[in-house]
Amino acid sequence: MGESKTNIIEKARPFSVEMFPPRTSEGMSKLDSVVRVLQRFQPEYLSVTYGAGGATKQGTRDLVRSFLERGINAVPHLSFGGTTDEEMRMILDEYREFGVGRLVVLRGDMPSGIGSLAQQPHASDLVQFIRAETGEHFHIDVACYPETHPESKSVITDIHYFKKKVKAGANSAITQYFYNVDAYFEFISQCQKEDIDVPIVPGIMPITNKASLIKFSSVCGAEIPRWLKKRLETFENNNDDLCKYGVEVVSRMCEKLFEGGAPGLHFYSMNRSGPLIAIIENLGLSAVSPQYNLENF
Ligand code: FAD
Repeated sequence: MGESKTNIIEKARPFSVEMFPPRTSEGMSKLDSVVRVLQRFQPEYLSVTYGAGGATKQGTRDLVRSFLERGINAVPHLSFGGTTDEEMRMILDEYREFGVGRLVVLRGDMPSGIGSLAQQPHASDLVQFIRAETGEHFHIDVACYPETHPESKSVITDIHYFKKKVKAGANSAITQYFYNVDAYFEFISQCQKEDIDVPIVPGIMPITNKASLIKFSSVCGAEIPRWLKKRLETFENNNDDLCKYGVEVVSRMCEKLFEGGAPGLHFYSMNRSGPLIAIIENLGLSAVSPQYNLENF
């Protein structure tokens, strides 16, 4: 492939990466090295998750601020959780002062013991609040679910509430992760029928550990197809080989998503760079990096 063609493809393939705020200094220095490596690949932005229960509220703010100070386009996730309207106004003001221009707005998941999800305002309420308070200042992303949110009674109600977030003022959406490409394209076609016309960016989870992937997926409603689960079982005692296989499978999936017209990719990094960078390289998303060695991670 000629260099000019590579550049054209890269321009049409934006990607972003999601991080969580580490709780220890060791976690922070590990994250630092992940960010340094990622910067070479010029992601569109780095988003920072938010613990609606309070544990990582300050961590999100601090990490966003430190990213911005380093010239990184940082995008905070934000939920109402137990936050009052007044507190939310202060958070939004502060983010505007920092120079934040984009938010990922969610209902959030509350840690057990903090409060009932039934009492939490929906993401659409916060989108509406932000638009009322700050006009068009922020580009707002919301979440959506190609395999249906686990609390939803049906696909139809789930898409109905997704549309409500868009009507409230969301500019684009990021999906829950999935390993079934057809689920994404079927979801896109359902959304088009409902006149939901915002870009819907697939969320991509690199495969790095079978047990944690299965546990996490059962909670968030992402399905691991039987063929994939069975294949992952064959790497029971060799996590390095599992990661390499995961890179291969996820790279192929991303390629199909781009071929089918996905407007970009949003990677759930879990603060790890090895398999993620290998996928980014396989997809040719970087113009600047030398081949990256997965063994380093
Ligand atoms: P909502 O859009 O509020 O939807 C939640 C459920 O309620 C759905 O079943 C929906 O169909 C239904 N619903 C929506 N509106 C209404 C309504 N008006 N009346 C009745 N039912 C309604 N969690 C975190 O805690 N922190 C994070 O940083 C975080 N980041 C995420 C990033 C992405 C890209 C994604 C996909 C998820 C993220 N999550 C995060 C997880 C997310 O908080 C959960 O999936 C949560 O359960 C739902 O959030 P939501 O914003 O989609 O909620």
